Amino acid sequence: MTSDFKATKQLFDLPKGLIYLDGNSLGPLPKAATERMETVLKEEWGKLLITGWNKAGWMEQPKSIGDRIARLIGAEKDHVVVGDTLSIKVFQSLAAALNLRPNRRVILSDSGNFPSDLYMAQGLLDLMSEDYELRIVAPEDLAAQITDEIAVTLITEVDYRTGRRHDMQNLTAKAHGVGALTVWDLAHSAGAIDVELSAAQADFAVGCTYKYLNGGPGAPAFIYVNPRHADTVKPALRGWLGHAAPFAFEQTYRAGETIERMRIGTPAVLASASLEAALDIWERVDMRDVRAKSIQLSQQFIERLSQSCPMLRLGSPKDPAERGSQVSFHFQDGYAAMQALIDHGVIGDFRAPDMMRFGFTPLFIDEDDVEKACAIIENVMQNELWDRDEYKVKSRVT
Ligand SMILES: *Cc1c(COP(=O)(O)O)cnc(C)c1O
Repeated sequence: MTSDFKATKQLFDLPKGLIYLDGNSLGPLPKAATERMETVLKEEWGKLLITGWNKAGWMEQPKSIGDRIARLIGAEKDHVVVGDTLSIKVFQSLAAALNLRPNRRVILSDSGNFPSDLYMAQGLLDLMSEDYELRIVAPEDLAAQITDEIAVTLITEVDYRTGRRHDMQNLTAKAHGVGALTVWDLAHSAGAIDVELSAAQADFAVGCTYKYLNGGPGAPAFIYVNPRHADTVKPALRGWLGHAAPFAFEQTYRAGETIERMRIGTPAVLASASLEAALDIWERVDMRDVRAKSIQLSQQFIERLSQSCPMLRLGSPKDPAERGSQVSFHFQDGYAAMQALIDHGVIGDFRAPDMMRFGFTPLFIDEDDVEKACAIIENVMQNELWDRDEYKVKSRVT
């Protein structure tokens, strides 16, 4: 292993006395992000003002950051760009895919997909003619349902609830075999597992940067378009910064070169500053090492808790090859139990109806943290410390 995870852990600002197993929802603060943001605020925005777009490279940032993310998801250089939010990128990629398959009418997704992805598909289809359909099938039925009716599959590689991982290589090959395209949502893959978009020949991929990538709340999303579609995709969301010549201010849209056309409007420069600091840490590691370490940590967690806490029923696949980088347990009073854990210094999260979810993030979580977290979980679960009214009151964000 060439990646030094002891060193990367030191690069995060983690509150003392707390074990953070929720980097799958919101990554922690890279120490360097504070200074980087201050520089962007004071030196760039403050001093350069409008000239910052040229002098500080703000205008190139969506693509230069995209290239840094490309390395982590096995994508070709020049084919990833950041901007907007993941939901928007889902819409954009689906619209582009439908346009490439004008004779087909079905988007295929699965019931394990994240609601926002399904909502965006529904909203898009409301704009289309009535014969379009979003077909939602059980996750295990996906492969069998990829038929020549399908225009595009919309699949989140790693299930946000259970951590179950779809086989990207096989499902993409299956889709291509019947002439369908693929949109892969990498929300729980980027920075979590070793994704190989180019090798899988995925058509489109989208993801966010505030989860495993540690870009910070509000950091921009990313989109990948396979090089073979790069010059033919027709953007549905035609913002001026996706235009071939934004500063010609032409009245009619002409798509920009390759991935540039998937840009929409003004980039989030401030939110990109913390993302850049996070990506500096990612430069130091190899995704294969991250994956190996994540499996080691999650196995350690599952093995110990399945012995000591029989009330927790594993909701994630047992086989690490079929899992992303999170482990979920079913527990009827999971919400209260998670509040109690947070109170005792272990942060995970809860997903309705009964899932307690824990993320394993080797950049800042080690074996020692997993041991300590298990001891706290055992104390809370075995002694039913969660059984208090104050832990049962639901907050807005769970
Ligand atoms: C986290 C997540 C989202 C969130 O989308 P935003 O637009 O960034 O809020 C969407 N899809 C999936 C699969 C997710 O896991």
